[in-house]
Amino acid sequence: MTITLHHHTPLVVCSNAIRTCWQSFDKSDNGGEKDRELIDRVGNKFKHSSTLEHLVYTFYLAGISRALLQELARHRIASLSVKSTRYTLKELKNEESFAVDDKKRASKYLVFTDEQIVDEMSIKALENLRKVLKKGISNDKAKYCLPESYKSELTWTINARSLQNFIALRSDKAALWEIRELAKLIYNTIPEDHQYLYVNALKSYD
Ligand SMILES: Cc1cc2nc3c(=O)[nH]c(=O)nc-3n(C[C@H](O)[C@H](O)[C@H](O)COP(=O)(O)OP(=O)(O)OC[C@H]3O[C@@H](n4cnc5c(N)ncnc54)[C@H](O)[C@@H]3O)c2cc1C
Repeated sequence: MTITLHHHTPLVVCSNAIRTCWQSFDKSDNGGEKDRELIDRVGNKFKHSSTLEHLVYTFYLAGISRALLQELARHRIASLSVKSTRYTLKELKNEESFAVDDKKRASKYLVFTDEQIVDEMSIKALENLRKVLKKGISNDKAKYCLPESYKSELTWTINARSLQNFIALRSDKAALWEIRELAKLIYNTIPEDHQYLYVNALKSYD
């Protein structure tokens, strides 16, 4: 999977939102140490968590499975725009048939696991889907035989409060391995000066 951070709110926007309450704008150091400490104190320690909602991130996530996608979509306090199988399945129609050991070519479409038999069955499902498309069945119907391992991509926008919740839940050992990997990558993709807001959420990862 690959993750790109398309946009993020500078920390000073959040610290100034907090300073609105006391009208203490003159104390800002433009997103420096003082502002960072203020955000942590008010947003995290004082649990005035709604102030963290002023920090927003937009990521592009590619090469994630549909299994992961449906778990990601459970996080309601986020916005998703997802690549539509309705419009994009035709890319598979023009492929040559897939042999079960042709992992390299199939990896354009499928997320693989560390279980050989699962991966082979995924490739069989991909080949079945390709045959259905070749027969001229519409994408709207053909998509019903997509395997969960089929790759998807999306633009994902989420605020810091919700992202803390996401990282806490999804970096935990109890979460699906692929979404755990995503949570860690998301953390690594966040600008370094924002990461301190998520360190506690990520603790359970190790
Ligand atoms: C290890 C693990 C196993 C899971 N297994 C299952 C499973 O077997 N089946 C299943 O269906 N789901 C499962 N889930 C999904 C889980 O139930 C949540 O839907 C998902 O983690 C999103 O969490 P959330 O509701 O906190 O996030 P969001 O939807 O982003 O919500 C963020 C926060 O906003 C608040 N909030 C949002 N909506 C409401 C609301 N309507 N009312 C009150 N407060 C609200 C809550 O404080 C919530 O924590 C699992 C999750 C994990 C991490």
